[in-house]
Amino acid sequence: MKINVIGGGPSGLYFAYLARKRLGDVEVNVFERNAPDATFGFGVVLADAGLLRLEAADAESFRRIQRITKHLSNQDIVLNGQAVTIHGPDYGGAVERLELLRVLQGLCAEAGVTVIHNADITDPATVEDADLVVGADGANSTLRERYAGAFGTEKGLLSNAFAWYGARMTHDRPTLSFRDAPGGAFVAHYYPYTSTMCTVVMECDRGAWQGCGFDAMNDDQRMAFSQQLFAQDLKGQPLVSNKSEWRNFVPIRNANWTHGHRVLIGDALRRAHFSIGSGTRIAMEDAIALIDALALQQGDVARALPQYVTTRRDTDRLTEAARQSYMWYEDMARHMAAARSPRDFAFGYLTRTSRVDADRVASLYPRFMADYRAEQAGAA
Ligand SMILES: Cc1cc2nc3c(=O)[nH]c(=O)nc-3n(C[C@H](O)[C@H](O)[C@H](O)COP(=O)(O)OP(=O)(O)OC[C@H]3O[C@@H](n4cnc5c(N)ncnc54)[C@H](O)[C@@H]3O)c2cc1C
Repeated sequence: MKINVIGGGPSGLYFAYLARKRLGDVEVNVFERNAPDATFGFGVVLADAGLLRLEAADAESFRRIQRITKHLSNQDIVLNGQAVTIHGPDYGGAVERLELLRVLQGLCAEAGVTVIHNADITDPATVEDADLVVGADGANSTLRERYAGAFGTEKGLLSNAFAWYGARMTHDRPTLSFRDAPGGAFVAHYYPYTSTMCTVVMECDRGAWQGCGFDAMNDDQRMAFSQQLFAQDLKGQPLVSNKSEWRNFVPIRNANWTHGHRVLIGDALRRAHFSIGSGTRIAMEDAIALIDALALQQGDVARALPQYVTTRRDTDRLTEAARQSYMWYEDMARHMAAARSPRDFAFGYLTRTSRVDADRVASLYPRFMADYRAEQAGAA
């Protein structure tokens, strides 16, 4: 059996490694357009439930990912400088994206996967001579675009804009800092992924984009503006750019996940908004689901692909949560204005998706909920 994978990001590499490990005598090739040490972004959160699924799927890769994970607990939600701490169970951890890719590249090499770097697949037909072609080539997937009609691809465009930065600062917990700004609102999502580095995702709504003059600025000026607005959060440190561009998030969904012997996984299939910090985990879980189906059907692609689609559609609860989450962010200025206190705002934030209601907040974060209820009773 021969499998060609387009894209050597987390989903493509993890799938390729698992394929060699679980499917036996199979040729697996990964075509990645970048060099081995190139990547976008900085660190990514891998929340605890996701880590457990990785452990169940493959103990060795889990162990190696654990070694590079910075574990996080508690979370701060800050409204115009006033912080509310959400004490809770371990938040999972964060890993440097480049380190995660290195671990997965190492596992692939040991397992006998052929990873071809600097291979930009502009025409998928060049790699379709295989029993299975896996589109793991991210949000701008060439495979998906080539067969957009057959996949039934639909794209949206959010009105909030964002840019992915880093910052050299020591900080011990994931933080969301919301700030009023001329015309609208900004939020900085930041969390540590090593002892000295934080990921910082800056986001602003359409009102702030216009009110702060972002449409007339270039990305350097936007970075300088955001840095100044969040100077207190950044502890005076400058933002670090990795070709960081301001853009609008494009949600993607595909009515059909497969087309013939081609299948989409990860961001190529659908993008989970960064506000739920789970895109990498969802992408890696897709890889697990696809491998499980192939293993169960003993490599019979025609039987395995429908099985992958059915089981994965059933188990993926996060994609809808991601949609609800970005809808909340699109309206963040109104939520900020309507909040009676920073704690009330934090409660609204925690319950922004249908996955978490007041009872779930109480079970996950009893200390926060007790304080919130006391505050509500005092106000009544
Ligand atoms: C601002 C921001 C913050 C995020 N934060 C988090 C977070 O905290 N936690 C989390 O879990 N997720 C986060 N994500 C999401 C996460 O980055 C993605 O969901 C994840 O990377 C998806 O993995 P993937 O392998 O499917 O795609 P990608 O990581 O995009 O990998 C695709 C790979 O394919 C390659 N490729 C593309 N086209 C071609 C081609 N034509 N030929 C060959 N190779 C090609 C690319 O170079 C890339 O290496 C964030 C995303 C953003 C934008």
